Amino acid sequence: VLLLGFSCVIAPAFSTVDLAGSCSLPDAECRKLSTLPLDGHLTFFDTKRAAQDFGRLRSLKPAAVLHPGSTRDIVSLVRAVVQSSSNISIAARGPGHSVNGQSQVEKGVVVDMPSLGGIDVNVTGMYVEAAAGELWINVLQACMKEGLAPRSFTDYLHLSVGGTLSNAGVSGQSFRWGPQISNVLQLEVVTGMGELVTCSREVRPDLFFAVLGGLGQFGIITKARIYLQPVPTNVHWVRAIYSDFASFQRDQLRFISKAEKSNVFDYVEGFVVPNSPSFEFGYNSVPFDGQTVNATLMPAPETSSVLYFIELAKNYKDDEQPASSLRDTVDEILADAELECIPTQVFVQQTSYLEFLERVHATELLLRSLGLWEVPHPWINLLVPASKMGDFERTVFRNLDASTLNGPVIVYPFNRNMWDSRMSAVTPDEDVFYLVAFLQSVVPSMGPNLETLLDRNSALWKYCAMLGCKQYLPKYSTLADWQAHFGAKWNDFVRNKIKFDPKAVLSPSQGIFARGE
Ligand code: FAD
Repeated sequence: VLLLGFSCVIAPAFSTVDLAGSCSLPDAECRKLSTLPLDGHLTFFDTKRAAQDFGRLRSLKPAAVLHPGSTRDIVSLVRAVVQSSSNISIAARGPGHSVNGQSQVEKGVVVDMPSLGGIDVNVTGMYVEAAAGELWINVLQACMKEGLAPRSFTDYLHLSVGGTLSNAGVSGQSFRWGPQISNVLQLEVVTGMGELVTCSREVRPDLFFAVLGGLGQFGIITKARIYLQPVPTNVHWVRAIYSDFASFQRDQLRFISKAEKSNVFDYVEGFVVPNSPSFEFGYNSVPFDGQTVNATLMPAPETSSVLYFIELAKNYKDDEQPASSLRDTVDEILADAELECIPTQVFVQQTSYLEFLERVHATELLLRSLGLWEVPHPWINLLVPASKMGDFERTVFRNLDASTLNGPVIVYPFNRNMWDSRMSAVTPDEDVFYLVAFLQSVVPSMGPNLETLLDRNSALWKYCAMLGCKQYLPKYSTLADWQAHFGAKWNDFVRNKIKFDPKAVLSPSQGIFARGE
């Protein structure tokens, strides 16, 4: 106790002495921040990482980074900033997997959420309570030890709980369980006024629904309670190739519909691939457990410039299914599914549930080893109304220029009734809508350059806005664009901002609200 007390006393003095030239804020603010009584620590030096994100398109240097040692630290910081006379802002940051600087803040304070960990699985209640800075992979592994797992994921699990809940958190399970924001029982939030609130559908529902998909505008999520279900052990992972979009779309829609027979898969996604045997960007660039595409069965490139790959998964428990019967079971499932794909171009592999959910991480490790992970990522994610997918296919997919692709183009549908309209997250106004994600990388001397990809994104968005699309992980540059994005929800969004973060202190780099006095 004595030692702890001693370190508390000397910490502020040490920071003050060390401040000269390192703090970019007015002296009084630097002194105020450096003398905050904290369980963790605040640094003015080690801020480089917080000025970067996965996108590598934008870099804003913060004045300081808080590594909270407790929720109390976040409350203290927000209160100090709100009371300060200068316009300092705050952004919570998970591992920084945004692509447009959304978790950065120029001359403000970044809160490094992963500093504050903690995962508590409640087996009886069938929920997990996770600190918001925890990565989903850690949450999953802790739950699996108890035979449980969350119901809804993202394709990549090395994202933070608070980061995905501030957007939506979508993947191939969302058609059945909704996005991750539909699977939250309770949140602990520090509002933009420094108030610590526990909220749920029943208690303070105004804050609960505002924060879900709220782009970090209303509060810093510090803890989330998430629904669980019994964990499967293994997965039949299926990929099938289609030469025409209509059949691909019919199958995807059948598998996400609630009709009894068609609801056989636990995961439904898909992607678009140039109809070329190229190992760089064609159908051979996306290997599947060593199984190869039969090139002679692919349509002539003049008739189909692209192919559509459906991705399906059926979960199972290995103790429910002896290994000898696996083959029969998959064959039965596929016979039942009556896929409309190119005959024989159906590939199957069995993986563990964890390996399946970690599939993108496996790719990350490969790309990192090749130096291809830490490169610019001008991504664009579109939510397209189902009724417009025919237009979209004719205008965009059929005219895709393979020379402007350097990364996957993902396409899969959602059921809107799984998205509670009270949440801040925005979707197109139709019962079914699609995610179309152009997840491109810029690699020097390989594929298109940054300018080409940004131009293509602008043209895509211009066209897509006319179809009534929305952006997922949105990036807009004008207030009018944000108003159009939120549509009927805009007035509530503004009202919530005034209510929960009246000085617009939080997540300024989303570019929605300007910091107030
Ligand atoms: P950050 O980038 O650190 O933060 C994102 C925003 O949320 C910022 O505005 C930040 O201020 C705010 N924020 C962060 N933590 C909190 C908090 N605790 N409280 C309040 N606000 C907070 N998304 C999907 O939905 N599905 C996918 O399949 C998917 N796959 C991806 C794969 C890769 C390789 C990458 C890089 C991203 C993927 N994403 C996916 C996008 C991802 O959901 C977003 O990048 C999201 O922002 C989460 O990243 P993060 O945890 O690093 O948050």
